[in-house]
Amino acid sequence: MNIIGKVTVLPQLPPAIARLSELAYNLYWSWTPHAQSLYADLDPDTWERFHRNPVRLLLEVPQDRLTRAAADPAYLDRYARVMADFDAYMGKKDTWVTENATDLKPVAYFSMEYAFHESLPIYSGGLGVLAGDHCKSASDLGLPFTAVGMLFHQGYFRQLFDKEGWQNEAYDELDLTTLPIRPARNAAGEDVRVRVRIGGREVAVRVWTLQVGRIRVLLLDANVPENSEEDRKLTARLYGGNQELRVQQYVLLGVAGVRALRALDVPASVYHMNEGHAALMGLERMREYVESGLDFAAALETTASSTLFTTHTPVAAGNDAFTYDLMDRYVGEWPGLLHTGRDDLYGLARHDQMWDGHLVPSFSMTVFALRLSRAANGVSELHGEVSRDMWNFLYPGAAPQEVPIGHVTNGAHNLTFTSQAMRDLLSTVLPADWTERLEDEEMWQAVEGLSDTQLAGVQREMKREMVAFVRARQREQMLRNGASAADVAATDTLLREDVLTIGFARRFATYKRATLLFRDKARLARIVNHPEHPVQFVFAGKAHPADNPGKALIQEIYRVSQEPEFKGRVVILENYDMNVARHLVQGVDIWLNNPRRPLEASGTSGMKASFNGSPNFSVLDGWWREGYDSTNGWPIGEEREYADLNVQDDADAFSLYSILEDQIVPRYYGAGQGDASWAHTVRRSIETVSPRFSMQRQVIDYVRQYYVPLSKRGAEVAADHSARARHLASWKTWVRQQWPHTQISAHADLPPTARPGQTVKVSATVNPAGIRPDELKVEAVLMRGDVQHRVALTHGEGNVYSAEVPLPDSGLYSLGVRMVPEIGGLSNELELGLIKWA
Ligand SMILES: *Cc1c(COP(=O)(O)O)cnc(C)c1O
Repeated sequence: MNIIGKVTVLPQLPPAIARLSELAYNLYWSWTPHAQSLYADLDPDTWERFHRNPVRLLLEVPQDRLTRAAADPAYLDRYARVMADFDAYMGKKDTWVTENATDLKPVAYFSMEYAFHESLPIYSGGLGVLAGDHCKSASDLGLPFTAVGMLFHQGYFRQLFDKEGWQNEAYDELDLTTLPIRPARNAAGEDVRVRVRIGGREVAVRVWTLQVGRIRVLLLDANVPENSEEDRKLTARLYGGNQELRVQQYVLLGVAGVRALRALDVPASVYHMNEGHAALMGLERMREYVESGLDFAAALETTASSTLFTTHTPVAAGNDAFTYDLMDRYVGEWPGLLHTGRDDLYGLARHDQMWDGHLVPSFSMTVFALRLSRAANGVSELHGEVSRDMWNFLYPGAAPQEVPIGHVTNGAHNLTFTSQAMRDLLSTVLPADWTERLEDEEMWQAVEGLSDTQLAGVQREMKREMVAFVRARQREQMLRNGASAADVAATDTLLREDVLTIGFARRFATYKRATLLFRDKARLARIVNHPEHPVQFVFAGKAHPADNPGKALIQEIYRVSQEPEFKGRVVILENYDMNVARHLVQGVDIWLNNPRRPLEASGTSGMKASFNGSPNFSVLDGWWREGYDSTNGWPIGEEREYADLNVQDDADAFSLYSILEDQIVPRYYGAGQGDASWAHTVRRSIETVSPRFSMQRQVIDYVRQYYVPLSKRGAEVAADHSARARHLASWKTWVRQQWPHTQISAHADLPPTARPGQTVKVSATVNPAGIRPDELKVEAVLMRGDVQHRVALTHGEGNVYSAEVPLPDSGLYSLGVRMVPEIGGLSNELELGLIKWA
């Protein structure tokens, strides 16, 4: 057909159910299955066809169906209950914040991707799910919080396997009128547009509002008629395109993001950069301060004092870095706007990298983010450690454990991923307000009150749904690829409901080792085809479109799934998204994760499985290294790193098979009793993982560890037209200038051996080059392994510093003496990165 125009015929909601439209525009429904079923029941086919999107459903549902629903007492009753819950949620006055964190100031959270629901495909994987979940819990806890992101109008991509199991990508243009978003309006009621110069072009950016419970997400959209065709594509695809596009997207997110907050008068006192993608928000914030009259250095101090940076990438190569030339093209005007020089600005981000065999100064988003924040964290305890090692070079002279990067272990939004059946079951033993205090570990002990049969009943039901889902998806794929009638029919017998089922789903980044399971196929075939105790596997996951090695892993699994020994017992599903994720974490018996330690910063899918009573079986990396307690699941391999990756893969695969055969399979099929029973493991996994890895616990940690301190510090530093920032900045400049002229030499009377508690006299002679004695910390450092004891030396005559330093305990110590410039008001003593050792 030749389309000459389009018209939308809007069904009219009868007054009795009029608020379905209001609810459709609040993602509250995305973690509330009862709310979803109000829409689903109106037209189940439309609901499924359009990715369970209530806004779309209300556009497509026939008018008479609405009329009938409005006259159906049972429907009206459910409608009334959902609306009452919704109103109670939205109107709640005594939230966690009002009771626990009244000194918290408004937070602005920036992230490149968000996963709220499959109908809004602006995410690629774990980072997006984390950001989306963070928003949901910020709403649950009542945080003053606004998120900023991008509206990718072609999303990430839809994944399709061809007949050979090779991944193809499809990009669908989203119809924005069918999404739960609305144009953001300012106080005068006008649609907001912000402008940003990128590479000498003026780009207009439209701002959309997405309501997530009580909080708002602002989504930036460059696809507006006044932009050139090229610029309209700036927000087409997430992680698409080359480095040129990536930098422009980062400018858009950071700079237009801050401008959107301002255009809408959104209060923001604490700024949270979720991954380095968001770091360029610092440019615009500094520009604002420069415009108000501060110099560059004071603007930097003020901006950084209220900023938190969360890093997620434990591999150096995974951290974006761009050549200075490339940066010149897109942020070339910024040194001028900030009244500074190119080298001073880029120097904040400098990380020399190899390009074509030469070491070239590069602009690292992570380095820039670290320099533009006064608090930084990794996303698990081990990842914190890995990050401190990785960025140690920015703090020459410091030991890795001193590097100012902490950690908050990730969590997941329990309600988004817990099945309704499991929620109903939990409600029988947990207190009425359990969904509001998910982080309460003691509360969760009540799960011990659930019987084996109750749990088995819910899990069987969820597994049945998952198997039906897998079969339907496989059938669709077969039909599309023109499979034979026999092959299509065979999808009806894929997987069995009474067989131990193991799930593995995630992005197919190579470090995640999706094919580790197939290292010894003969052994795997015996496990899978065991006559009494068989095992089956469900895989899913996307590879980045440019990642051919990742796609090859998918294909390898696909091929295995077609081999006679594995057919029907190993399945790989297309198009991993939040919908597939929910089905799998709710329906499998065990969740498998075998990344190459220590490259899994945290991982979160295993948490979601445990919320549903599926124990985790995973490498002791990321969150599981903290979560595993010997009763709530199983480890794979050892807690160590390997020099030889092949040896590591062999060792981990061996461990995987052995534990599966010797422990998991027998327990699942009823071998152990009491504490060794399957149901016990299931209860332990729910009660230990649900609170500790709830997103609620994670957000509370962020509030206490970072948001509240930064609220305070940011206000102090900015007070009085940034008086403190100006002072800090000029002091730092002076110290940096003097530092090369300082000198330190040290002496210690060390006996060949000593007793614990004995002291040694340590002294140092310092040339402070004019730096005041009270602004110089001179200290003795005793190192034993990676444990550091520091003892301050006291200033005396003639710039000699000394102290009697106690030797804490028996052992081999090394002693050093160093000095560090220090002034009140620094976020930490390595803020300048200056340490001089004698
Ligand atoms: C939870 C989730 C992830 C993250 O999984 P990992 O455990 O970090 O590998 C990725 N994609 C989707 C769709 C998810 O729901």
